[in-house]
Amino acid sequence: MDLLQMKDKNIVVMGVANERSIAWGIAKKLLEVGANVIFTYRKERSKGKIEKVLENYQDYNTAVIECDVNSDESIARAFSQIGEQFGVIHGIVHSVAFAHAEDLKNRFVETTREGYAFAQDTSAYSLVAVANAARPFMTEGGSIVTMSYLGGQRVLDGYNVMGVAKAALEAAMRYLAADLGADGIRVNAISAGAIRTLAAKGVPSFNTILHKIEETSPLKRNTNQEEVADMMLVMLSALSRGVTGETIFVDSGYHILG
Ligand code: NAD
Repeated sequence: MDLLQMKDKNIVVMGVANERSIAWGIAKKLLEVGANVIFTYRKERSKGKIEKVLENYQDYNTAVIECDVNSDESIARAFSQIGEQFGVIHGIVHSVAFAHAEDLKNRFVETTREGYAFAQDTSAYSLVAVANAARPFMTEGGSIVTMSYLGGQRVLDGYNVMGVAKAALEAAMRYLAADLGADGIRVNAISAGAIRTLAAKGVPSFNTILHKIEETSPLKRNTNQEEVADMMLVMLSALSRGVTGETIFVDSGYHILG
């Protein structure tokens, strides 16, 4: 049996903003192995970018659907549309996060109530809401994978409110894994190393982080979208059928350092 078999699996990929997005690296891999990829986007600008890159993938089974994770109505509409069009959902890539720029620049102690709630809502609660909306269509079981970062487990300079949101995201992932395991749905997180993307631009000390990882990580280099996408294939496929509730690091081993 080919445990990496993804042909004709319906996978929802949330969070492609442009070709640098981690989610785009993942989607590309999924298309290469024959999966049907349902892209969700928040902004019209992202929709345009997704449709543009998909011009090179015209023979593939794809869909592009609006889903703003800050809105219950938008999530419900998106998943009922996906259910209608594809029937069964086999996997979800949750690669979505956002915090106000000032909450990453200011001292953590100055985080506002609104900024804290917004980061949590967008970056952590969204996983719960999405899992609940997708559940009725995951009738054959499946795999939900979210994207985390080391700043959810350690204090990293400039990650601030997003670090707290990632901590909540990883805890939510474990509670969802416990809740949905009986339905054959696995829930995991990939904690990626620093990768230059649109979201990373908001982290003030990003260049310093990249240099530090290159100099000190066990593999002495930074990771990239492709390495994360390869691990995502493992986590979405039956290769990882015994794994749930886990945070897997794809970060050149940086997280093991003291
Ligand atoms: P990105 O900016 O390309 O992707 C972030 C996505 O989140 C965008 O597509 C954006 O549209 C989407 N998003 C934000 N608010 C949304 C909303 N309300 N509704 C729907 N979508 C919304 O950046 P990325 O680096 O590819 O980030 C993807 C994930 O990977 C994030 O969870 C990020 O925290 C995580 N991550 C990134 C790095 C890194 O260094 N780049 C490292 C570890 C983890």
